[in-house]
Amino acid sequence: MDQVKIGQFIKDCRNKNNLTQMQLAEKLGITDRAVSKWENGRAMPDSAIMLDLCKELKITVNDLLSGEVVTMDNYNENSEKIILEMVKEKEKNDKLLLKVEILMGVVCIIIMLSLTIIASYVQMEEWLRVLLILIGFAPIVVAAPFMLKIEQIAGYYECKECGHKYVPKYSSVFYAMHINRTRYMKCPECNKRSWQKKVINKD
Ligand SMILES: [Zn+2]
Repeated sequence: MDQVKIGQFIKDCRNKNNLTQMQLAEKLGITDRAVSKWENGRAMPDSAIMLDLCKELKITVNDLLSGEVVTMDNYNENSEKIILEMVKEKEKNDKLLLKVEILMGVVCIIIMLSLTIIASYVQMEEWLRVLLILIGFAPIVVAAPFMLKIEQIAGYYECKECGHKYVPKYSSVFYAMHINRTRYMKCPECNKRSWQKKVINKD
């Protein structure tokens, strides 16, 4: 999505409706800095506020995301383009999330290994040794739920039996046996259990 074009469009619509940035911000219950950010193309309106914003500007969400008033003639083509772009955006974000997960894992392992090595080779009291090893485990204990959440929501799991791609429940991911990102889970479509791979694309 062309953030700069959308920003300019928001500005044009705001002016057409005789609103200052401050007035529009007040109507939406946000700061005028947020409005200014959109108009400069530095941020997109939150999905939670989009409907209200469109109401104030007297445009549709489709118009907003296209950065122009969409006529009936190009409506379908336009919606499809927006949906495709959103899918692409989601894929990009999912890939980033999975990279973040790997990074969290690596950092946790480095901390754990360093402290374990120190505890094993450096002269110290016994209780300190135990404490160091326990502290070494702390980051992974804290990070694990976040990593698992990423695993659940980023991309899809693909059923080996029927090819169905879906986002499983957190509990399914939590309890499933796994080898790296491949998990042994029950497919909601065909109800068969199989080793399901993580995939980014839906189709
Ligand atoms: Zn299946």
